[in-house]
Amino acid sequence: MSSSFYSPVLAQLVPYLPGEQPKIERLVKLNTNENPYPPSPRVVAAITQAAQQGLQLYPDPESSALRQAIATQLGLAEQHVFVGNGSDEVLAHAFFAFFQQSHPLLMPDISYSFYQVYCRLYGISAQTVPLREGLRLAVADYGLAPGQSVAGVVVANPNAPTGIGLPLADIEQLLQLHPTSVVLVDEAYVDFGGQSAVPLIARYPNLLVVHTLSKSRSLAGLRIGYACGQTHLIEALTRVKNSFNSYPLDRLAIAGGVAALDDTAYFERTRQQVMSSREGLVLALEDLGFEVLPSQANFVFARHPLFDAATLAAGLRSHGVLVRHFKQPRIEQYLRISVGTPQQCDALLQALAQLLMPGGAPQ
Ligand SMILES: *Cc1c(COP(=O)(O)O)cnc(C)c1O
Repeated sequence: MSSSFYSPVLAQLVPYLPGEQPKIERLVKLNTNENPYPPSPRVVAAITQAAQQGLQLYPDPESSALRQAIATQLGLAEQHVFVGNGSDEVLAHAFFAFFQQSHPLLMPDISYSFYQVYCRLYGISAQTVPLREGLRLAVADYGLAPGQSVAGVVVANPNAPTGIGLPLADIEQLLQLHPTSVVLVDEAYVDFGGQSAVPLIARYPNLLVVHTLSKSRSLAGLRIGYACGQTHLIEALTRVKNSFNSYPLDRLAIAGGVAALDDTAYFERTRQQVMSSREGLVLALEDLGFEVLPSQANFVFARHPLFDAATLAAGLRSHGVLVRHFKQPRIEQYLRISVGTPQQCDALLQALAQLLMPGGAPQ
């Protein structure tokens, strides 16, 4: 749709397409990488308490209590932490603050598709670097040719939607290849087995690490994300935020976020459960003939050599199981499947077993 009221920039926008949030319940929802477990009970208690006092007042514009809780957890100081309304908002502010330059931003050709959306929103040119064989990222491909300049680099680690993680040494090499640009490492899935770059922050003024409470803390519905980096980067993000919305996190989110971060035992238990279900899911998918990429995330990326992925996704949906399929070159034969509870994984595997039987699905 277009209209003569639209600005030229608006006419150019191609928005991000989120995975389906079905209106019908009972579906086995393995399509948007939410945590299959509810948040810690302490989160609900903290939100209930916060709702009973002070909702007529604006929240703390600095979200100090939450930033302090995050900093404590990571061994940083509060001034090294920026929080936003989901990590998507944090990413958007970072793109605006650091990558709106005359040079292109480097990113893998297969990665979180929101990066390209922000590029169009802010007029940033994206230069994609193809992943290699097996959808693996090779840091050597990110070096600069003589005379070449870039606005920065953005990678997801573990990558989405492949689930493949990079070792810390690779991230360090990326930081050294681009000492004068911001290297943004989106660690949305790091708590499911990845290696975090947070310990490198003290040594690299160009490193910005972004995390979310949506996945490993089961809080996709509360919208909390954050960035960690040296003070000059955090101040830049704060300047953008205070030019956009002084109160991106409401009182309930701040209270719930602090409670989630405090309940370390619950966090450890649920993330271990997800990782252990993932290992079982990978083996069972391989038994069904799928090729599964090595995942360090709460999802797996898999393809079947004999069955079309779009057809399988549609077949699964008719069995009440939602998975994500991307109609995108190089990955259109893959399915991205979030790791559910053991019961949800069983439901997926049973539906797949039926679809893969002779006559089970058109090929
Ligand atoms: C889920 C996800 C996000 C967004 O998380 P929110 O905090 O819910 O906005 C960011 N990056 C990647 C790679 C993700 O998968």
